[in-house]
Amino acid sequence: FVDAAGKATRWMGTVTDIHDKKTGEEELRAQARRKDEFLAMLAHELRNPLAPISNAAQLLSMAAHDPQRVRQSSEVIIRQVRHMTSLVDDLLDVSRVKRGLVQLERERVDIKSVVASAVEQARPLVEARRHALDLHVDAAGGWVHGDRIRLVQVIANLLNNAAKYTAQGGRIALSVVPAGDAGQDAVAISVRDNGIGIDRTVLPHVFELFTQAERTPDRSQGGLGLGLALVHSLVQLHGGRVEAHSEGLGMGSTFTVTLPTVKGAPVAAAGRQAIP
Ligand code: ADP
Repeated sequence: FVDAAGKATRWMGTVTDIHDKKTGEEELRAQARRKDEFLAMLAHELRNPLAPISNAAQLLSMAAHDPQRVRQSSEVIIRQVRHMTSLVDDLLDVSRVKRGLVQLERERVDIKSVVASAVEQARPLVEARRHALDLHVDAAGGWVHGDRIRLVQVIANLLNNAAKYTAQGGRIALSVVPAGDAGQDAVAISVRDNGIGIDRTVLPHVFELFTQAERTPDRSQGGLGLGLALVHSLVQLHGGRVEAHSEGLGMGSTFTVTLPTVKGAPVAAAGRQAIP
């Protein structure tokens, strides 16, 4: 989408669309560069926790008689290992999705409960960064034929990004509204923040693997640029689409996931979890 001044304000589409926007050679070079940058970043992210782990292990071996030091060192090791594990899990997840190895476990899913679970997952980061979270869920909600766990992962990812890329004490708004879509009933789930925003040169690439734009100044919110690529692939697998919108740096961002809904009253199949 382009505004009156010819500025891209919104991007929607698939990677194929993105290819069409650039000459093939230019795009290939950009992809190769992003991959190189990604490898450097990956090495960095995996190496970073090793020094504190090694220090803590040394302290442990020397201070076995000091319970407080043992506890502190153990906590460092547990925290750093957890961080490394989640990075490696994300990598494995992306690689499996990209190779088409992820099968959706579809069932009739209430999007309201998906949103509630995603909010629970993202709450620790939202609260740690003292953001206000506004929820607007249309009473009608919507039922989707999808994989509950994967849908929660998609929305939680967007909420965590909103929390990461917004200065402390910001505002995040999550809304769920019906969205009629070319004759197909749909539901639109939007996550809006008033954070650092996304530069218009980066906007068309945010869903591509390895894309990373503005970092928080201290890199405290480091990641690998995998999350949105995963979001994009998972939403596509559900027959939906995801759009990113930002007026530019400093102007906040909005991510909207639109999913086709299924009609009719839900039927609680035998042996399945009862649907509220
Ligand atoms: P990661 O967060 O690990 O870097 P993502 O794929 O989730 O990877 O996001 C890719 C990039 O898109 C981020 O590095 C960031 O620059 C940008 N981004 C994502 N969400 C937001 C947001 N809500 N506000 C501003 N920038 C964002």
